[in-house]
Amino acid sequence: MSNPSDAPGQIFASLHTHSRFCDGEGEIEDYARAAARAGLAAFGASGHAPLPFPCDYAMPLALLDRYRDDVRRTRDLYEGELPVFLGLELDYLPGLGAFYEREFLRRGFDYFVCSVHYVGEAGAEPWAYDESEAAFATQLAARHDGDARPIVEDYYRRIRLMVEEVRCWGLPTFVGHLDRIALWNRDDRYFSTRDKWYLDLVDQALDTIEAAGMAVELNTSGWDKPVASANPGPTILRRCAEHGIPSLLSADAHRPALVDRRFAEGRRQLEEAGIREILVPDAAGWRRVPLSGVLQDEVNQ
Ligand SMILES: [Zn+2]
Ligand SMILES: [Zn+2]
Repeated sequence: MSNPSDAPGQIFASLHTHSRFCDGEGEIEDYARAAARAGLAAFGASGHAPLPFPCDYAMPLALLDRYRDDVRRTRDLYEGELPVFLGLELDYLPGLGAFYEREFLRRGFDYFVCSVHYVGEAGAEPWAYDESEAAFATQLAARHDGDARPIVEDYYRRIRLMVEEVRCWGLPTFVGHLDRIALWNRDDRYFSTRDKWYLDLVDQALDTIEAAGMAVELNTSGWDKPVASANPGPTILRRCAEHGIPSLLSADAHRPALVDRRFAEGRRQLEEAGIREILVPDAAGWRRVPLSGVLQDEVNQ
């Protein structure tokens, strides 16, 4: 957690966070305290949503009610001091629409971070590409003779399907770590992120996101991961700006001290990319606010 004097401005919230209810550490209340101390505009809990199959990082379905109660209790505790929002990071897999509908969509959640952690060809068991580099390389060799392109194509296809599905929910959503499929791709070791086929996939996804009016987070956790770049990286973030897609800063924190991880760097990256608007949570409805206005407000403080 940075010093309040380094805080990037009251307009930035931290909405992508994982507590002990899933694979993170710390209580929801610890996060709210850290967010208030960091001078953030709001805090949101986004535990990994339960899945209908065994998964070691997601919240068990049996814990969901307790999670919801705990976030609401924290919201009441911080009333008048810090807005607290109840969210989930939803793992998108094709065909789970009825499960999402039954368990999450009308159950009082304020928002969803929508992410793709699983890939896999039709009819085959889905696999989590982000588990470890060794697992990624093994799957690549076993399924595609080491060629990453079919996996990357599958990933972006899933991003598009996800956006088409969640745009119909009528609830606040944003895309989680858009180019995370490049997690192990430092120095383009598995595929070239400058190739036309890759940039075409990205642009198709951005067309779909723009048409849906969704925001894409700038996930600052990537700077501390093997890829050593925020997600999305600068090239894709610039393309988001060209598409007029709004953004927001996300720490993807797995412990309270990281609630505003690298937010000052993140803000600079948003500015340099030319992002014009950020998504701001509000109990009365989420708003798109001009980023230049945010910076101007800070200058005036
Ligand atoms: Zn994620
Ligand atoms: Zn996450």
